[in-house]
Amino acid sequence: MSEKAGNLTMEKLVSLCQRRGFIFPSSDIYGGLSGCWDYGPAGIELKRNVKEAWWRSIVQERDDMLGMDTSILMNPKVWEASGHVTSFSDPLVECKNCHLRWKADDLRENKCPTCSGELTEERMFNTMFKTFVGPVEDDTATVYLRPETAQGMFVNFQNAVSTGRKRLPFGIAQQGKAFRNEITTGNFIFRSREFEIMEFEYFIKPGTQDKWFEYWINERLAWYQKLGIDKDRLQLHRKKKEDLAHYAIAGADIEYNFPWGWGELEGIANRTDYDLKQHSAASGKSMEYYDDETKEHYVPYVVEPSVGADRAILAFMCDAYDEETVKDELRVVFHFHPDLAPVKVAVLPLSRKENLAALAKDVYGALRPCFATQYDDTQAIGRRYRRQDELGTPYCVTIDFASLEDNMATIRERDSMDQIRVPVATLKTTLLAKLAGEDFSILPEGGRIQKQVKS
Ligand code: ATP
Repeated sequence: MSEKAGNLTMEKLVSLCQRRGFIFPSSDIYGGLSGCWDYGPAGIELKRNVKEAWWRSIVQERDDMLGMDTSILMNPKVWEASGHVTSFSDPLVECKNCHLRWKADDLRENKCPTCSGELTEERMFNTMFKTFVGPVEDDTATVYLRPETAQGMFVNFQNAVSTGRKRLPFGIAQQGKAFRNEITTGNFIFRSREFEIMEFEYFIKPGTQDKWFEYWINERLAWYQKLGIDKDRLQLHRKKKEDLAHYAIAGADIEYNFPWGWGELEGIANRTDYDLKQHSAASGKSMEYYDDETKEHYVPYVVEPSVGADRAILAFMCDAYDEETVKDELRVVFHFHPDLAPVKVAVLPLSRKENLAALAKDVYGALRPCFATQYDDTQAIGRRYRRQDELGTPYCVTIDFASLEDNMATIRERDSMDQIRVPVATLKTTLLAKLAGEDFSILPEGGRIQKQVKS
């Protein structure tokens, strides 16, 4: 029987991620750099798929959204106007005994979690990374690595209005790297110092913000569920007034039940016209919108859903992870949604014999233009299934000696381990249909269900 995610520990996940090439510690041969991670061959495919699924749902499938890709380094006045220079800070405390530093918000008691030592008074620590533009390292050359991508979209608001041909409400969306000099990092890729953010600013007419805030909460909750996340492992936490950021009138976090407990997955903020007005005042440029239906000029309000791609990946991995005993052996499997799975189909010839390899290579060549396909002819077939299970590959295609006679191949489904035998000529259309959600027991012409022990 399957023992769903309940017994997943972070140690197991981190070790699987290293073993199968999802995620490695950054600069590992030098002892790593805390809060930085590298995505390996499987991890980068998963990451691209998560970002792609978000982009499709937020930008490409909607008429009211414009994509952008703004620069990481910006004029430092942006961060003065937005309030980040003065208030993008965390309360830092230091243990007087072991000198470890902590984010005061994270502590339950007023003593050091490591040695129970006494803590210093809180002081605010700005978490923006600084660097310099040009050869002279002085104050006039200081720039920041962006801690979010939002400001790049606010300062482009008028460019979007003048070129995007959209009426309010509409949004600007982007994905990209963000950097935060977090006081403490941890829980694998949950909190890192360099991470990728996926967020959008949805510009609306003042007065309509409550409706749109609720609309986006529902849309975003539905997105995670559509991609396979168990709804019982998601919850909405509405922020209390005193916990809101300085620019927000309402905020809600979508939380996921990670192996260590509930944690923020995505933040949705009702940001008013704060950012646009700040940039207007600081730059002297108008951030007003002319509503040609009502003949009014106004500065739009904004609703912003923002999620870290890496945090979303962690949630998708935790939710997809499963262990079960098959033929007295442990089977570890990622039940990724097909859209997210790093590899969609693996072609596995039963032997390396020449005639079998030739047919298997033909099949591989026909499938790989359609979806991410892997060819694997090493080790026993059972071991190869286990490896693909650990990568989360939804379908394996096995070519055996009978295939040479009947020109049929076996498709094995990851989740049920059921198998069907189908004509080689129908593989592509059958797999496309299965990946799009067709029931596995529906057969193409000439196909049949294979009755055999699951493996
Ligand atoms: P937290 O309270 O966890 O520090 P936050 O409230 O500061 O997060 P936001 O500024 O709202 O986070 O950032 C939006 C999203 O970006 C978060 O919901 C999270 O998914 C992601 N995120 C923020 N900080 C990090 C980080 N250090 N590492 C990875 N992802 C992050």
